[in-house]
Amino acid sequence: MKQVRPRVVVSRCLGFDNCRYDGVMIESGIVRALESHVAFVPVCPEVEIGLGVPRNPILIVVSEGQRRLVQPAGAGDLTDPMRSFASEFLHTQPGIDGFILKSRSPSCGIVDAKHFPSAEAVEPVCVGAGFFGGAVVKKFPGLPAEDEERLLDGAAREHFLTRLFTAARFRRVGERLSVDGIVRFHAENEYILKAYDRKNLDLLGTIAANGQRKPADVVYGLYRDHLARALERLPGRASIVDVLAGIEEECMGSLKTGKKQRFAESIGRYGAGLVTLHTVLVEARTVIAESGRKDLGEQTFLRPFPDELFETAAGRE
Ligand code: SF4
Repeated sequence: MKQVRPRVVVSRCLGFDNCRYDGVMIESGIVRALESHVAFVPVCPEVEIGLGVPRNPILIVVSEGQRRLVQPAGAGDLTDPMRSFASEFLHTQPGIDGFILKSRSPSCGIVDAKHFPSAEAVEPVCVGAGFFGGAVVKKFPGLPAEDEERLLDGAAREHFLTRLFTAARFRRVGERLSVDGIVRFHAENEYILKAYDRKNLDLLGTIAANGQRKPADVVYGLYRDHLARALERLPGRASIVDVLAGIEEECMGSLKTGKKQRFAESIGRYGAGLVTLHTVLVEARTVIAESGRKDLGEQTFLRPFPDELFETAAGRE
């Protein structure tokens, strides 16, 4: 199975440049680990709107229901320049598959930027999206967007990476668009979709089957929207166990008794949280190879993203 190289917009201060307000760069393990597997597009929205390094801090002020981005000691109100930059940048980036943005930043934050009642206030009234991070989520609701702190959690990373590489694989289908290509994609991703969302799996199957003979670009758009919805939520361990048990059943007839038993025990250990997903997937690959079921070997469920990144997802950086 050929892996794709997703295109990921990343906050420039996460390992690419000393562009933070204090002239510091932040090291992020996940950004480092991804370097050889993705094409990064680093961006620093604050530098892009003309702020220097170092610079006085900027903050979000909420007043009478309006959010403003301000630099109290310096440029003043930066709301309009930041909105214009975000809109232009996000409209002109071709083929983006996901985002890794800096946590807590009033510009890049996705969920945890502090909002203050006034420029002088010390205590925030709430937290929420920063100006650039918020624009990302609004423009690309179906793409994975996380901050480097949320990606410290192993399960969140596994989920992010699965969505990221799936989005990139589907983008590649769009580059040589045909309904047959969408049908093939659906077949190869069937088990991932089973694990994530069985209801949307059936709907996606119907869209790919294209009973109404819609043009390929219409089918592609419909499929992309429902695919994003299907992968939105992290699947439970029980539904992954179900898919693994399905693989066990399909291969059962061609396996030796000892092998069958070992695989069943592995699935049980994964279900109990005693081994990682990667461990049980590697075993599933062996079982499938021994059973001669080449069709199953093509399932992206077995290799949702490069193996080296499982090490990262498991927190062994
Ligand atoms: S958080 Fe965003 S705006 Fe702030 S320094 Fe990093 S890249 Fe620039």
